[in-house]
Amino acid sequence: MVKRLKNYVGGRWVESTATIYTPVINPATCETLGECPDSTREDVDRAVQAAQAAFEEWRRTPVLNRAQYMYRFKALLEERFEDLARVVVEENGKTRDEARGEIRRGIESVDFATSVPVLMRNDGVEDIAAGIDETTVRQPLGVFAAITPFNFPAMVPLWFLPTAIACGNTFIVKPSPQTPLSMDLIFELLDELDLPEGVVNLVHGGKDAAMAIMEHPGVKGVSFVGSTPVAKLVYETCTRHGKRVQAQGGAKNYIAVMPDADMTASVKNIMGAAYGCAGQRCLAAAVVVAVGEAYDPLREELVKQASSLRVGYGLDESTQMGTVVSAAARERILKMVEQGIQEGAKIALDGRYITVAGFEDGTFVGPTILEDVTPDMTVAREEIFGPVLSLMKAKDFDEAVEIINRSHYGNAASIFTSSGKYAREFKYRVNAGNIGINIGVAAPSASFPFGGQKDSFFGDLHGQGEDSIDFYTDRKIVIERWI
Ligand code: NAD
Repeated sequence: MVKRLKNYVGGRWVESTATIYTPVINPATCETLGECPDSTREDVDRAVQAAQAAFEEWRRTPVLNRAQYMYRFKALLEERFEDLARVVVEENGKTRDEARGEIRRGIESVDFATSVPVLMRNDGVEDIAAGIDETTVRQPLGVFAAITPFNFPAMVPLWFLPTAIACGNTFIVKPSPQTPLSMDLIFELLDELDLPEGVVNLVHGGKDAAMAIMEHPGVKGVSFVGSTPVAKLVYETCTRHGKRVQAQGGAKNYIAVMPDADMTASVKNIMGAAYGCAGQRCLAAAVVVAVGEAYDPLREELVKQASSLRVGYGLDESTQMGTVVSAAARERILKMVEQGIQEGAKIALDGRYITVAGFEDGTFVGPTILEDVTPDMTVAREEIFGPVLSLMKAKDFDEAVEIINRSHYGNAASIFTSSGKYAREFKYRVNAGNIGINIGVAAPSASFPFGGQKDSFFGDLHGQGEDSIDFYTDRKIVIERWI
């Protein structure tokens, strides 16, 4: 039986009013795992009303009690850890270990939310003027929502929901219709918490549901994660409707490798960065810039290590790289590689037409390396979002920095070097929100904000960390005189 997904509104599972349902496909087996409703404005309105109705009582619930729900939530996520990881593998295509890593990171965001009683503390000054005291209090604002992508279907919503509700807001999640099952399971766990009805709500769907959230006057703010064109649209729509918004967009992450780097160790790390989650990470390494004499040993080691990666079904524990998310994604990736070749790149490792025994219809793309890539080529400028690494040359460090800063994206950038001088210059000069020094995936932990600059982020307060407390609360200033 294929599960027809329901929305979770006002503390219960409800049928969507949708007339269109899209199949959720396991990209390795092509099995249909569920059907996702294309929820309507009416569905969104119901969720907003439920969240609004819950807000007054929830904000009056002491912050320590609100945080207690997060401890119980964490316990349930730990209890169902392996089930959650399995669902992520089945609907997204990544490996079991990658899915475990995703759930672990999601739980770290729940950990962070247990600190909200401390993080919501305020400051004040007695006698700011004679007999007058001035203090600030942080207050929740009302209904917030998250619109999230396919690539981390469990983790990304957990960047937002726990902190938002621990701060006293109520919440709506609209996951990606390509991978809605992880959130479906997580909401089963949230249901077990017996939160007051309407504190958390789940509305499945695509563009229409997202637009309805952004345009709804009852929604105070939106956290978005997804591609750059949609992030831009979300930022513009939300600001036009007077909402707070943080919109994390796409990426084209560069890695500079200096000749003084330890090549074997660096490339081992770059493998994870380029091919982890089949390259479908906003922090994935997309372009490696070999500086000077690094080129020959780097190229050799990249091809050697990439060609030995075992591609297969994510549920098989020996698999090192799974599928991309869908047949459409595979087609788009292959087209971009083709365009790279037409624009003058050479193919150093070709993973385009691999098949995996037993999963012949799966949407696999093997590790691919393009070389002789130059900064003006489409493959160097635009996000491929697949297991394709472009290799470029720079004559020296300055040229590498110049190439990296030319990108219109600014999500992450890394350098591999044994020189403190180059490491410092790199973090000082490179315009990217997350910097890795001898780290290929510069993923901030939950207590730090998730960086992002240029076309990779629209807004001012980032997701995660103390920025998220600022985003989900308003600081009210109180000026008092009693004498
Ligand atoms: P996407 O932009 O297609 O979709 C993201 C969300 O927006 C989904 O919920 C989708 O239903 C909704 N959406 C899609 N089109 C819309 C429209 N026209 N109007 C309103 N809503 C719309 O992204 P995706 O393909 O699911 O995810 C991959 C992208 O996400 C990549 O570009 C990746 O770099 C990015 N990403 C960024 C970060 C980050 O932190 N910066 C993290 C993860 C993923």
